[in-house]
Amino acid sequence: MGAGKASLKSADDLVAAGLVAHAQRDGLAAVAKRYAIALTPAVVGLIDRNDPADPMARQFVPQLAELVTTPEERADPIGDLAHSPVEGIVHRYPDRVLLKAVHVCPVYCRFCFRREMVGPQGLGTLTPEAMDAAITYIADHPEIWEVILTGGDPLVLSARRLRDMMERLKGIDHLKIVRFHTRVPVVEPERVDDALISALKASGKTTYLAVHANHPREFSETARAAIARLADSGVVLISQSVLLKGVNDDVPTLAALMRGFVENRIKPYYLHHPDLAPGTSHFRVSIEDGQKLVAALRGTISGLCQPTYILDIPGGHGKADIGASSISGGDGCFTVRDFRGEEHRYPPV
Ligand code: SF4
Repeated sequence: MGAGKASLKSADDLVAAGLVAHAQRDGLAAVAKRYAIALTPAVVGLIDRNDPADPMARQFVPQLAELVTTPEERADPIGDLAHSPVEGIVHRYPDRVLLKAVHVCPVYCRFCFRREMVGPQGLGTLTPEAMDAAITYIADHPEIWEVILTGGDPLVLSARRLRDMMERLKGIDHLKIVRFHTRVPVVEPERVDDALISALKASGKTTYLAVHANHPREFSETARAAIARLADSGVVLISQSVLLKGVNDDVPTLAALMRGFVENRIKPYYLHHPDLAPGTSHFRVSIEDGQKLVAALRGTISGLCQPTYILDIPGGHGKADIGASSISGGDGCFTVRDFRGEEHRYPPV
């Protein structure tokens, strides 16, 4: 069966599309009650139905393992809520804020670090009043140099709503950089049209866009064309990926992914160690294995293709480069230094 026109959003949809067996229906319906499901036609078209371990299916088709929450997992693994001065804003570092306008995505990744916040039962879309308060917060804080639009996926908003938002950022002189984090160019590339690209740039600020992709097969022909439209428009493209067991935790796949970014004019930026999101232990690799993989990448592919291996320290302490220097310990017990030099146990006790 080929890809249909509508996204798949329920266990019944997955059974009807032939992506899961009927016997799994009730179990996956239980998963769907807790964590949203969505697979776009573009994603369905990338799934190899003959491969029971297909890395595309693994990222988007739910599994019963998601109902298992381990003791170290947390509903808010990177501590967004601890740093949210007003609804929709996360102000964790001095010079930048996250602006989370929407908690909806075109797909729901099974390993998502914000899985308790996104989806139909998630935090929803900012009301006009909440958006006013968020923009006022940015305008009132002259130290904010960069706004990072994330969520949810900001590119699910219509071009008109994105343009409105960007035009409101235009008048804030201290704000120099607007950055979008999105999966749309690979999972719904047809959305990336002239109107959307023009809206992304309507703030007049230097505009960056981080493309989230985890496997080289995500660079389909339509995805490559969407990425090329963005690059041609002058939006600066960087990457973000999550290191995921059974998806990209081997050197050939990671090398092909990073080369794929560079070939598509996307500078590799972050390779995230998977966060301690609930029901995601089947995706987690060890930090020791992650460090071996990034060390092997260094010896295998061009310096242009090297990402920074990053841990978001649980509890909202920010990111640490765990390629080597910020982390010590072993046997599953590490001490990791945050950007202030403070030390934290990982996993937390
Ligand atoms: S697109 Fe991002 S926010 Fe949305 S489900 Fe995937 S990882 Fe989570």
